[in-house]
Amino acid sequence: MGEPRVDQVDQAKVVGRLAPSPTGRMHLGNIYACLAAWLGVRSQGSCGVLRLRIEDIDTPRVVKDAGRWIMDDLAWLGLDWDGEVVYQSQRADAYSQALKLLESQQLIGGQPLVYPCFCSRADIRAASAPNEGDGFIVYPGTCRGLSHRIVDERLARGQRHSFRIAVPDQPDESDAICRFDDLIFGPQSFNLPRQVGDVVVQRSDGLVSYQLAVTVDDLAMGVNQIVRGRDLLRSTAIQMWIRNHLQPQAPRVQYAHLPLIDGVDGRRMSKRFGSPDLGSLRRDGWTARQVLGVCGWLLGLLDRPRPVSVQELLDGFTWNMLAADHKDRKLDLSKLEVSGAKPNL
Ligand code: GLU
Repeated sequence: MGEPRVDQVDQAKVVGRLAPSPTGRMHLGNIYACLAAWLGVRSQGSCGVLRLRIEDIDTPRVVKDAGRWIMDDLAWLGLDWDGEVVYQSQRADAYSQALKLLESQQLIGGQPLVYPCFCSRADIRAASAPNEGDGFIVYPGTCRGLSHRIVDERLARGQRHSFRIAVPDQPDESDAICRFDDLIFGPQSFNLPRQVGDVVVQRSDGLVSYQLAVTVDDLAMGVNQIVRGRDLLRSTAIQMWIRNHLQPQAPRVQYAHLPLIDGVDGRRMSKRFGSPDLGSLRRDGWTARQVLGVCGWLLGLLDRPRPVSVQELLDGFTWNMLAADHKDRKLDLSKLEVSGAKPNL
């Protein structure tokens, strides 16, 4: 695809990425994350590279034209990127190679690193301990210990299955703890067996999972700075585990996880719940400077929302400004005044 291999990327550079999913038009939460990723890279001047990856792997959820809208909205806001756009839908070969590499490995003790899982969602829910309240269920490991005979028998019967990656099963094993320093949330530590579990790397519909696709792409694109919502903190732990098995010597990544933005109803901004998106904002007469002002304020870079350009936000940008307050935000657009222009939503 003409993209740099990781060993060809100049490690003195900060390589960031915008990684929108084309499941709809971007809402303010998506733009806020893109803006932070853009500032993180562009604050490095010529030592920064920002790639754009359209995450269209989950084909059933992809909306026709959404990739085009996203690129148009980014350009309208002045958030530019470098090089060719990468589409996950065109990277099936890279994903299947990565899967093969993982399948050839074992954990200490002989557990295959990747194993087939025949559980339905309902099976998993029924066998799981109550979760921590964020909806994430740690896989209870039902299929992990199946004998070869049973696995072969089920596969021969054509039983529907996904593939999972195994994490160490003893919480006190030396590699059970994944640690990283987040630029915003500070030191993080996840116990892989207790808090993450064996996650799906290939879904039962044959599609590669988000966790595997993102890890393979970030490695291949030489990404060493990842900016995204704090709901993905736990995903970072599993992606680091996968990454270690794909390329143990890979350069380290800097992570910046952002507070989440809730709408007035207390629900997280999301395409699914119809949060105001750039389509409606632009139709209602918002300017790019107003949108940037709201996002810059949500990031903690402005003390109130006011129209600004990306260049103004870039002046004096540091991650510490974002780290100063990492509580989730609440956004009530109907009450927001952006320099007199009261958006009519
Ligand atoms: N495509 C994901 C999203 O739009 C981002 C995933 C990531 O940053 O790893 O939420």
